[in-house]
Amino acid sequence: MTQATEEKKPPNIDIYKAWCKACGICVAFCPTGALARDETGSPYVKDPEKCAKCGLCELRCPDFAITVHEKKERQARGGQ
Ligand code: SF4
Ligand code: SF4
Repeated sequence: MTQATEEKKPPNIDIYKAWCKACGICVAFCPTGALARDETGSPYVKDPEKCAKCGLCELRCPDFAITVHEKKERQARGGQ
């Protein structure tokens, strides 16, 4: 009786500021506009409801500074 919003729960995205160089790649590749840049250029989760959990931001970040938890599984990954 307490699992009402399980499907719609917002994504869990961590941005490690210490590693982030504010290049904006993650924001540029985000297909839904869930991410945005603040006045210093650093990314933040502007609209978590828009996140499709595609994992592109994590994949494209050159510094491994952003992690999307509960990503949708990609199927054609093969063994590893
Ligand atoms: S997981 Fe996809 S939709 Fe969500 S913030 Fe990252 S790039 Fe955008
Ligand atoms: S792609 Fe990585 S380093 Fe660049 S702004 Fe996004 S989190 Fe920061």
